Amino acid sequence: MFRLDGKVALVTGGSRGIGRAICVALAKAGAKVAVNYAGNEAAAAETLSLVREAGSDGELVRFDVADPDAVDAGVTGVAERLGGLHVLVNNAGISLDQILLRIKPEELERTMATNVGGTLWCAKSAIRLMMRKRDGRVINVSSVVGEAGNRGQAVYAASKAGIIGLTKTLAKEYASRGVTVNCVTPGFIETDMTAALPDSVKQQAIAETPLGRMGTPEDVAAAVLFLASPEAGFITGHILRVNGGMLI
Ligand code: NAP
Repeated sequence: MFRLDGKVALVTGGSRGIGRAICVALAKAGAKVAVNYAGNEAAAAETLSLVREAGSDGELVRFDVADPDAVDAGVTGVAERLGGLHVLVNNAGISLDQILLRIKPEELERTMATNVGGTLWCAKSAIRLMMRKRDGRVINVSSVVGEAGNRGQAVYAASKAGIIGLTKTLAKEYASRGVTVNCVTPGFIETDMTAALPDSVKQQAIAETPLGRMGTPEDVAAAVLFLASPEAGFITGHILRVNGGMLI
């Protein structure tokens, strides 16, 4: 079940957190994995070592997902070197949290360019290759915050809601070309992104999660692996919640 032997996957933001767990899960399933990162080469190299320990292989590919030219060169290069591109996981993302009254234009621009623009540019470059082969899986990483909103995260919530709209649109546009496009919406997950939050915020989030704990990157990776697998071949435009019941 859920095997990806012979497939090539590109995971954006694969150097840390959820992206790293996704790289390892896809590698364990037999896929070759291109590990994208923005600047943290040491962390990305550690992910690639874990991919190899999992019995597969891959490469590091550095580009800023917000830069469409760099994305196109990065995606095309991965497909040329690794033998095609079958799975794209749009995981790279940032959150610059502020209440509405403090939000600055550059925070909006950077968040939208990375979270929405990054997902869009990577999908554009990857789907162009996938549709020629009539075989492709795109999995976007949104957030429970994009579905439910959250105080202090107006810009992040708007960007993550945007990814849901983008997912549904691309699912409709490319279904006839053999490409499925789905989305996962993680709840509160233990990574660098949440590590800096005060303990009181973490306890509150756990209290609001019926399963009574923070999620792990591996919880999210399992859902992504399913959506990338042959068994999910008749699923497209779906928003899969991985949130411990935080939003039902
Ligand atoms: P994280 O630990 O902060 O890691 C972020 C990753 O994104 C890093 O690999 C980073 O690369 C990469 N990245 C950031 N900006 C980039 C850019 N412009 N171009 C390429 N790569 C870039 O984040 P995380 O918590 O694992 O989150 C991963 C995804 O899940 C994000 O989209 C986030 O919004 C979403 N999410 C997280 C949670 C949570 O509770 N943690 C909940 C819901 C959704 P470098 O290492 O090179 O900086």
